[in-house]
Amino acid sequence: MGGNSNIKLIDDNGIRIDGRRVDELRPIKIEAGVLKRADGSAYVEFGKNKVLAAVYGPRECHPRHMQDPSKAIVQCKYNMISFSVSDRKRPGPDRRSVEISKIISEAFEYVVFTENYPRTSIDVYIEVLQANAGTRCAGLTAASVALADAGIPMRDLVPSVAVGKVNDQIVLDLQKEEDNFGQADLPLAIIPRTGEVILMQMDGHMTKPEFDKALEMGVGACKKIYALQKDALARRYAIEKVIDEAEEPAAEQTAEG
Ligand code: UDP
Repeated sequence: MGGNSNIKLIDDNGIRIDGRRVDELRPIKIEAGVLKRADGSAYVEFGKNKVLAAVYGPRECHPRHMQDPSKAIVQCKYNMISFSVSDRKRPGPDRRSVEISKIISEAFEYVVFTENYPRTSIDVYIEVLQANAGTRCAGLTAASVALADAGIPMRDLVPSVAVGKVNDQIVLDLQKEEDNFGQADLPLAIIPRTGEVILMQMDGHMTKPEFDKALEMGVGACKKIYALQKDALARRYAIEKVIDEAEEPAAEQTAEG
């Protein structure tokens, strides 16, 4: 967050440097079930962000001292691949990835019915393949679809997006330059069914009216992302249904033979 409001990131017609209006999302693509060996998976693009999420479990929790006899624990690992950013990212965890992993784990602990799976661990891996600001939101959106794809019972899917302040205006879904030179960045995630906010962070400054506007804009955008998440899962299971139907006659023949 540079906080340098002298750099013109929104023109006089209200158009941003990538051609979007202030309340417009980047193009979003969501695909469920992209990895064969994971119990659940998803691939998400938010503009130039490209993120993969894989879910394993519920499975026996190791190390065992971390087991909780009353519920499952959700362990998320967010990782940026070295080539995902313009300056090569040093491999391995750092302060930022540990923080992002923690807040995403906590968000999912709240939505997953963890009490159904005592002593187990639900492991969520988020790999950022290409980054252009908003990767924690894209990662959370992907991980939520991956959890659903793994068949893990949850209160709801969790859409996530960042809202920010750029050139004294509230803007939706910041891209890299807006994130770098803007005045504020507010990633959030909600449970659409109840309207609860389960992740909110803020970098920079906003007045109370600006914050209210940002929240309203973010919640509205989350509802759009929610529809895309549901659509991705519906497409995934429609494909599976076609495959099942195609395989059925062969199975019957074998049984008769
Ligand atoms: N970034 C980078 N190198 C890093 C970390 C971040 O180039 O080591 C870039 C990347 O494009 C990222 C953006 O800075 O998406 C904003 O990072 P931030 O910490 O705000 O998290 P994000 O917006 O991705 O959730």
